[in-house]
Amino acid sequence: MTVTTETNGTGQHSWQSLPAAQQPEWPDQEALRKVLAELASYPPLVFAGECDQLRARLGAVARGEAFLLQGGDCAEAFDAVSADQIRNKLKTLLQMAAVLTYAASVPVVKVGRIAGQYSKPRSKSVETRDGVTLPVYRGDSVNGFDFTPEARIPDPERLKRMYNASAATLNLVRAFTTGGYADLRQVHAWNQDFVRNSPAGQRYERLAKEIDNALAFMKACGVAPEEFKTVEFFSSHEALVLDYETALTRTDSRTGHLYDVSGHMVWIGERTRQLDHAHIEFASKIRNPIGVKLGPTTTVDEALTLIDRLDPEREPGRLTFITRMGAGRIREHLPALVEKVTATGAQVVWICDPMHGNTFEAATGHKTRSFDDVLDEVKGFFEVHRALGTHPGGIHVELTGDDVTECVGGGDEVQVDDLHQRYETACDPRLNRSQSLDLAFLVAEMYRG
Ligand code: PEP
Ligand code: MN
Repeated sequence: MTVTTETNGTGQHSWQSLPAAQQPEWPDQEALRKVLAELASYPPLVFAGECDQLRARLGAVARGEAFLLQGGDCAEAFDAVSADQIRNKLKTLLQMAAVLTYAASVPVVKVGRIAGQYSKPRSKSVETRDGVTLPVYRGDSVNGFDFTPEARIPDPERLKRMYNASAATLNLVRAFTTGGYADLRQVHAWNQDFVRNSPAGQRYERLAKEIDNALAFMKACGVAPEEFKTVEFFSSHEALVLDYETALTRTDSRTGHLYDVSGHMVWIGERTRQLDHAHIEFASKIRNPIGVKLGPTTTVDEALTLIDRLDPEREPGRLTFITRMGAGRIREHLPALVEKVTATGAQVVWICDPMHGNTFEAATGHKTRSFDDVLDEVKGFFEVHRALGTHPGGIHVELTGDDVTECVGGGDEVQVDDLHQRYETACDPRLNRSQSLDLAFLVAEMYRG
């Protein structure tokens, strides 16, 4: 790998002179410049060495030795940076990971869509309600969710709030995951508020008892590994607003390489992965593990070129392809991609995002997803990989730890008419805690085959 600190003749990074889709139109360039200078002086949110650690873990996933669980909000919101909400999300991910680790007997790499997931690409740039047309909401890092002209004006001060919200979230996540709360002997505690009123909670409780028995047996044998006391947990978000990501991109003093220290892993979304645009150029220059979303129209040539650009050294763990084809299309579109990529010798991580290809508008006007479609896309993903002899490396899901009603179906049978009850997402519909656990059990069964 060459040292990548060079900038072009203008003192800018190479990606800064390329076209970039989905960028905010900041009204005040001077205000933006000041904010970015300030951000550039702030300390890193994550360390380069931690990013390397995650890349190594993902290398194991690429080789078929581990499974990646990546999940969290579609869009984090500043007013949801509370201890309760962060803990509930984390708890849900830890419970899902416990199910997968135990029931599928596979090490699980845990990555949150958390502590930085504040920017959203949008299909339309304006939104009309009752005859009033305003710019769309682009995430809390850019403008406000409220449907008023003032809220929808992009405000660069929000980039500083994004940094602060990410720092506060990451601080709590680090405390939870290393301070005893994530100790495997707490498997029951994570479920306490949940077991009484949910079938998924009860099913989990039975599994937690088995884990307890296994731990008691190991203890009796004199085995009490340190690994059970803490959990490795990594942050990730879509690298969308390049002004922000660039201000947080630093040269690592150990190696001279660039790292985006705003999160451990960043991904490039379906709408910004144009091969000759800024986002892919940016991703090619940083050493973080990189994800790229691949929708149903992705061609084999595009996938191969992405590998040449982002993973020229063919390094397992460097590149994760997050496929999001839709339940109806995955069985038709995924095989050629996997087959041709594998034939080149590249060892990418393949994970399934069963959310973004399965969104529809319910009769009530809510943007929703059906749990059955989500499940069917994951099934299709497993079928394709099993047929080709490749590794179904993981799942990428939008979820929350709260009992929202945003997706229909699942064990608790959320109906279309229930959607209005707790529809709280700032963007796409998320699985609630019970639907997330249901999914983990079903994925564990598929993994075991
Ligand atoms: C997302 O992950 O929230 C998203 C917008 O996904 P995609 O880029 O796959 O549409
Ligand atoms: Mn989304």
